[in-house]
Amino acid sequence: MKTIGLLGGMSWESTITYYQQINKQINEALGGLHSAQILLASVDFEAIEACQKNNEWEKSGEILAGYAQSLERAGADFLLICTNTMHKVAPQIQQAITIPIIHIADATVTDLQEKQIKKVALLGTTYTMTQDFYKQRVIDQGIDVLIPDEAAVSELNRIIFDELCHGVIKETSKATFLHAIQDLQKHGAEGVILGCTEIGLLIEQSDVDLPVFDTTLIHAKAAVELALS
Ligand code: GLU
Repeated sequence: MKTIGLLGGMSWESTITYYQQINKQINEALGGLHSAQILLASVDFEAIEACQKNNEWEKSGEILAGYAQSLERAGADFLLICTNTMHKVAPQIQQAITIPIIHIADATVTDLQEKQIKKVALLGTTYTMTQDFYKQRVIDQGIDVLIPDEAAVSELNRIIFDELCHGVIKETSKATFLHAIQDLQKHGAEGVILGCTEIGLLIEQSDVDLPVFDTTLIHAKAAVELALS
C-alpha cells in the first residue's frame, strides 16, 4: 500500500471527510484492522485565505509548496491538495516536488465521463466558479460548464466561508444551494459538481434529482485506488 500525502486544513472541516473516507475505503478493501497510510499536513487556513483575498496566489503557493515538500520528505508517495480553490496553485506546488499530485478536477472529469455527462453545473467558491484553473480542465475534455448568476455566486461563496468552513450547517443555506442547482438544471445541466470540499457537508445525492459529483468523495476514492494499485 502506498502512503497518501494530504495537504489539508482548507478547511479542516472537509479534511475530516477525506480522513474518514480514505480510511473507510482502505478497510473495506483490505479488511481486518487495515487502515490507510496517511501523512497529513494541516495548514493554518487563516493565512491561506488572506492570500486569496489579497490576490497573493504566488505567496500561498510558496506556503503550500513548503508543506508539500515536508510530506514528500516524510515518505508520501503522492499528494492530494484537499481543496478545489487552491488547485489554482497546483502547478506551482507540483514544481516544488517530485511525487505526483492527483488533480481534483481530473479525478472529477473521469467520473463525469463515466456517466457520459456533457453539460454540468459547477458550484464552489467564487474563485473556482469564475476563474479558469478548474473549469477549463473540464471544458478541455469536451464538457460544458454552467455556473450560477452573479448574485448566487456571491451568496454561495459567502455560505462556504462564513458557514461551512466553520462547520455551521443551515437549512436556509441548503435551500439556497438546491435553488441554484434547480436553476442550472433548467439551463440544461445534466449533473452537478460540488466543486468545493465543504459542500458535501450540506448537500448529498438524495437531496438532488441530478447526478451529484462530490469532489471530496471523488478525490478520496481516487487516492484509495492509487494507494492500492
Ligand atoms: N475547501 C474549499 C474548496 O474546495 C474552499 C476553501 C478554500 O478556499 O480553499 O474550494
